[in-house]
Amino acid sequence: MTQNRKPLNILFFGPSGSGKGTQAEMLAKKYNLKRLQSGAILRKWAKEETEFGRKVQTAMNEGFVPSEWIFKMTEDEFRKVDEKQGLMLENFSRMLPEIKNLYNVLKKLNRKLDYIFLIDISDEAAIQRMVKRGTCQECEKVVVLDSDIQELVCSDCGGIIKKREDENLKSIEKRLKDYHSKTSEVLDYVRNNDKLIEIDGNQEVENVFKDIINYIKNNK
Ligand SMILES: [Zn+2]
Repeated sequence: MTQNRKPLNILFFGPSGSGKGTQAEMLAKKYNLKRLQSGAILRKWAKEETEFGRKVQTAMNEGFVPSEWIFKMTEDEFRKVDEKQGLMLENFSRMLPEIKNLYNVLKKLNRKLDYIFLIDISDEAAIQRMVKRGTCQECEKVVVLDSDIQELVCSDCGGIIKKREDENLKSIEKRLKDYHSKTSEVLDYVRNNDKLIEIDGNQEVENVFKDIINYIKNNK
């Protein structure tokens, strides 16, 4: 990449199990993007030994974090990224106020979303993938587990990877249902006000990645 080109800012949509985390990691490496996820930002702030950090922790334990707090944390984290580095964004826009806030924050920082991808996958395939997932207890990296192996060591940080306890079929189905009902409104908003690029997420990981890269190459 040439140095004087504006950094790429990419947003991903896709249900749990769509493989968007894996794709985001690969894209972030390829284009030197700072990968940001709303959940990770929340957990980071909740660990801080400040009054606000403790409030966030309490709110998370209670299962509801006010949108204004999330917006504040989002903006703070975005501001920390070097302006020459692009952003790889996930899960910042599950509901309408969130996507509107995202556009506002980016505008304030003189950034725009260059590509908005929806990694689309059938519920059946998403479920298949989710029941095989494990998460690193330290860095929260998500990996695919062999059916026999329930525990292994994280290649990134050496932490222990465990099968996610919330990954039983009922909770997965509920999560997908929630995703469809909340996200359809947001996706329509993007279709009407911006451009949503749909990628077939039912393919092998490498082919999904190829589709994304080819789209970017052909639509600069
Ligand atoms: Zn790890």
